Amino acid sequence: MALDIPFDNSYGRLPDRFYTRMAPAPVRQPGLIKVNHALAEALGLDPAALESAEGVAVLAGNAVPEGADPLAQVYAGHQFGGWSPQLGDGRAILLGEVVDRDGVRRDIQLKGSGPTPYSRMGDGRAWLGPVLREYIVSEAMHALGVPTTRALAAVSTGEIVLRERPLPGAVLTRVAASHIRVGTFQYFAARQDEEALGALVQHAIARHYPGAETALDLLDGVIARQAALVATWLGLGFIHGVMNTDNTSISGETIDYGPCAYMDTYSPGKVFSSIDHGGRYAYNRQPDIMVWNLAQLATALLPVMGMEREAAIEAATASVHRFPELFGQTWLRVFRAKLGLAVAEDGDADLIQSLMDRMAAGQADFTNTFRALGTEKARDQFVDPAAFDTWDEVWRARLSREGATPEDRRDARDAANPWVIPRNHRIEEAIGAAVNGDFAPFERLLEVLARPYAEQADAAHLTRPPNADEAVLQTFCGT
Ligand code: AMP
Ligand code: MG
Repeated sequence: MALDIPFDNSYGRLPDRFYTRMAPAPVRQPGLIKVNHALAEALGLDPAALESAEGVAVLAGNAVPEGADPLAQVYAGHQFGGWSPQLGDGRAILLGEVVDRDGVRRDIQLKGSGPTPYSRMGDGRAWLGPVLREYIVSEAMHALGVPTTRALAAVSTGEIVLRERPLPGAVLTRVAASHIRVGTFQYFAARQDEEALGALVQHAIARHYPGAETALDLLDGVIARQAALVATWLGLGFIHGVMNTDNTSISGETIDYGPCAYMDTYSPGKVFSSIDHGGRYAYNRQPDIMVWNLAQLATALLPVMGMEREAAIEAATASVHRFPELFGQTWLRVFRAKLGLAVAEDGDADLIQSLMDRMAAGQADFTNTFRALGTEKARDQFVDPAAFDTWDEVWRARLSREGATPEDRRDARDAANPWVIPRNHRIEEAIGAAVNGDFAPFERLLEVLARPYAEQADAAHLTRPPNADEAVLQTFCGT
């Protein structure tokens, strides 16, 4: 069957200064690595057509499909707190948008698709490692139930990409509710382009916040979704790693998986990014950093709030100040569920914090400790199991005040505590094998991570924390 993608491209109808219209740069020899069948079907696409020679040519950027309107989006952003007045899709091309089976409009973007006017010093390409990493981690995030961009496909290019050493090139096809970022608003705000800002507000509202009417409503919507998102990340031990304003999505999806990680040993100040020297994006700083990013969005929106400047500042400030409460609500809900507490009690936050403190002191594995609560295995996670036992006693007393049966409580906890997450050493292992032409570990990881809450006895090795010699200490802004 011929490839038929029912494009309907709304971003390309925005003014010219929002993007550079251009086709992806062809690659030497497109090769299929993987098409995500379930996602293709959800988008109303035929997986077999995507896997055909014609489909692979499209996924590699060698052919532009009928109805596409390829373009590179422009944006700006604060990177590690420093202002970059012009960023943009430096290694990505938005092919266009498709309305999926649920009626949700989705971007289809090629990442690693060649240089654009926004490439700065970069080559516009990606190597296999970050492509597989983003594929694995974003699909795991989706399976864990967290809003995220997704991976539709990965293809090889038959080209070499020069990083620290020559590496095989690849292209990821990313699917997102949109690629509008806090930095997209900042780009136009910095240029005092109120007309563009107004158009972007309308576009973002229509796409993501249908109930909203004003720029302030939009801000409130983004704040609520990002507060919930960051709290959900914390519940999974996730560290985004590069929470720049250009990597903060207006839709509330997790986006731009670079130096990210799900923690092994719980350590609240943990950082993974090789360039995050000050710990700006450490695990426990993520809520504060998101407030900072949302304050930048609020600032960018001031001119189009339709209020006097003082009133706009007051309203926007009040909105941003609601973040801690919104974040706290979700955080408490998430961690109550992890502890199996269905009924709220006053001391719950302290009970949770007390466990976390002991986990940090006891070098407990984040995922395995929560999953093991209520079993003999929980105390084994701690260097000093006795420190856990005193908490365990208090928790069990607290649990006994809940109505549910132990079995139901166990099932509820298992639904809130994943059995498996993508551990960095396993991702590195899969990438290493793939560089040598063996994609079996990559496929196996995807298969197991598609059901992260289900115990899968034959995949127990994927739940094991790294030995000292396997631990991945840093990940790189993988480009
Ligand atoms: P990131 O922090 O990975 O989201 O990237 C920040 C900015 O750098 C974005 O504007 C990217 O498009 C750009 N960029 C990253 N890697 C490359 C590359 N290999 N070639 C061109 N631009 C890149
Ligand atoms: Mg980015």
